[in-house]
Order: sequence, then structure tokens, then C-alpha cells
Amino acid sequence: MNAAPARLAIIGSTGSIGRSALDVVREHSARFQVVALAAGSNVEVLAAQVREFCPQYVAVSDTAAARLLQRLCPHLDVRTGPDGVASLAALDEVDVVLLAVVGMAGLPPALAAVRAGKRLALATKEVLVAAGALILQEARTHRAHILPVDSEHCAIFQCLQTAGARGSASVERLILTASGGPFRLHERDALEHVTPAEALAHPTWRMGSKISIDSATMMNKGLEVIEAHWLFNVPAERIDVLIHPQSVIHSLVQFCDGSMVAQLSTPDMRMPILYALTYPERWPLNLPRLNLAHERELTFFTPNFAMFPCLLLAYEALKTGGTAPAVLNAANEAAVLRFLKGHIKFLDIPRLVEKKLAACNVIHQPTLDDILAADAWARELD
Ligand code: NDP
Repeated sequence: MNAAPARLAIIGSTGSIGRSALDVVREHSARFQVVALAAGSNVEVLAAQVREFCPQYVAVSDTAAARLLQRLCPHLDVRTGPDGVASLAALDEVDVVLLAVVGMAGLPPALAAVRAGKRLALATKEVLVAAGALILQEARTHRAHILPVDSEHCAIFQCLQTAGARGSASVERLILTASGGPFRLHERDALEHVTPAEALAHPTWRMGSKISIDSATMMNKGLEVIEAHWLFNVPAERIDVLIHPQSVIHSLVQFCDGSMVAQLSTPDMRMPILYALTYPERWPLNLPRLNLAHERELTFFTPNFAMFPCLLLAYEALKTGGTAPAVLNAANEAAVLRFLKGHIKFLDIPRLVEKKLAACNVIHQPTLDDILAADAWARELD
């Protein structure tokens, strides 16, 4: 990376990943310049971020919230709607786009970033799940680089650095670790009655509400399997999930000679965020260090697919291919929203996703319009 500050657009700046990214920027304020910030509707937090980081451009997807922000900050270029948000990802003044919105709302800025040839530090896994082939094709065409922010994929990316010139040809398996979520030790019957508050209480990570529910159903790990397939070009059959409740090993790669390489650290998203922003460099980070002598135990289990059918559904959608992962993702987004509003039960989430997958007409080698149509269809759950 140049000596000049890296110029950032942070899309989803008011969320869990967005705030962690701004923490990292604070620690390296001379080496980053925040050019653009975008959020959904949280004007209060966004206005405070504008005051602190002085971006030139801001976008708020909600129009009323955008108007309010414009009144609060009259000097600012405030854009609105999906196009306004996506436009920030393609600004000439931006080198790196950190994409950290939730779900398919991230697709327009993801496409805008890769089509503009940016480095895309990608937290929004849903866009790769739904439109992985398309995004990678656009990235190749426009020489954009996609760097994973998800801790597991950042771990695998780091492990793969040891593969050297042989690259993915020497990879036998990817092993994604999973904490197992808050219900790892529950009986299946007990899951029928869990509340949104219980499902939101993740044992090791503090995250936004959608990914917290996805972690509780283990759909998050399923989405990550699909994300890993696209990022590292490894088929579903060679991607494993391993339950590791301590969240110390963030993932592993097994190579063709049987050697395994793992990446370990304290669980804190600032580390993978900084790595995605600065790769191939490593910059210092003021986080508590992992002291293995203080780790009482590191344990590992195979996942219980019967307890967490979402994981199996994601593997099946990946193997089916075409628009199936877009249907899985959209049905899940819609079901999670309903669960958070108290309209359906926890176990209705996998039921509804499975029903949609069973009913969908899969289109292979889909266009963007095919993906958007599959997405819209899958959100209508009844
Ligand atoms: P949050 O819910 O905490 O934050 C979401 C952010 O996106 C907020 O800034 C929100 O703004 C903004 N936003 C929502 N809709 C739009 C929109 N239409 N246009 C622009 N911005 C929008 O989510 P997380 O930070 O937890 O997660 C973000 C993504 O990162 C998800 O895809 C998740 O799976 C992934 N991820 C998260 C991890 C974590 O530790 N949190 C770990 C790994 C991946 P507002 O606040 O105004 O609504």
C-alpha cells in the first residue's frame, strides 16, 4: 500500500462491522482517510461519525433520514436510495470499499465497487451467496480485488499464504470453525420455543441482529460455506464445518500432504477488518493478545445437522447451484426478519427456507435479472 493514506468508503458504517472498522481507522488515523460513509437510517450515529471523520460524501438509504442528515450537515454531499449508496462505492476518490451492510441491500454497492476496479473488503457474505459467479466475473473483468472480512475466510486467506506458488491446487480441504451459537447444547424440542432475545445472545461475538440469528440457526455457517466456495474456488465436498466453542482457531486449511495450517487470535473483528484493508501488509493492532497458556481447553465437534438443518440446506443449495443459493439466502433473510418481529417461531426459519428451496425452479448460469427475480420470489414466504 502507498505511503499516501488509503482512501476508504465504509458502507454500513453505523453497524457492528462499520463501527469496528472506524475503530481501526482511529488507531491508524494518519494512514487512512475516510472519504465516504453510508448507512440505512441511523442519522444520530452517522452524524457523529461525520463530525469525527469528515467524509466528503455520505449516503443514507432511507430518504427521510437522508433529508434530516442534510439539514444537520448542510455542507455535505448527502445521497440517498440504493443508487446513492452504490454511487459511493465507485467514487474516483476511493481506493478501498468496506462493504458491511446486511443482506442483498449490499448487492448494488458490491457490483459498483468491483465494476470500478476497487479493492472490496467484503463483510456482506449474502451478496457472494446469491451472486458469487457474477460478482467474481465482474471482478476479473475490471481487475477488482475481493478481500474477505469474515473472520473464518480471513483465516483461510491467511493460511493459504503458506501455499505459495501452488495456490489452491495444493489444498485438500477447507475447515471452517463455528462457535455453535447459543443453542449448541440445547435439545431439539427446546428450540421450538426460543425467543428472539435468547437467539440474539451469541456466546462469543457481539454482532448485528441478522447475523446473530443466522449464527443461532447455523445458517451463518452455511452461508460461509458458500462464501468460501466462491472466494477460494473449492467445491462443497471439500469444505468442512467444525464446531469449536472457544472461537480461538478461526479456520484451517488442510493441504495435499496432510499438513494443516490454522489461524488463531482472540475473537475480535478489528483484526480481519484491518487485514482486508491493508493486505499484503500487516499493521499493528492494539488488541489483547491470545495467550495459549491461559486457554484451559480447545475443543472440537462435528456439527449436528439434524439440530441445525439450515447448514444442510446451504450445502444442498451450493451443490444445486444456479439460483438455488439466492433462493436460500432471500428466504432466510425474510424468515429471520419475521422471527425478529415475533411473527414466526425459531424452527419455522429452516422450515420456510426448505419449503422455498423445494418449490423453486432453479435457473443455471443465471443473469443478474434471474438472480433478482429469484430473490424477490423467495422473499414471499406464504
Ligand atoms: P449491523 O446490523 O450491525 O449493521 C448493518 C449496517 O448496514 C448498518 O450500518 C445499517 O445502517 C446499514 N444498512 C442497512 N441497510 C442499508 C442499506 N439499504 N444501505 C446502506 N446501509 C444499510 O450488521 P453487522 O455489522 O453485524 O453485519 C454486516 C454484514 O457483515 C452482514 O452481512 C454480516 O453477515 C457480516 N458480518 C458481520 C460480522 C459481525 O461480527 N458483526 C462478522 C462477519 C460478517 P443503520 O444502522 O442506519 O440501519
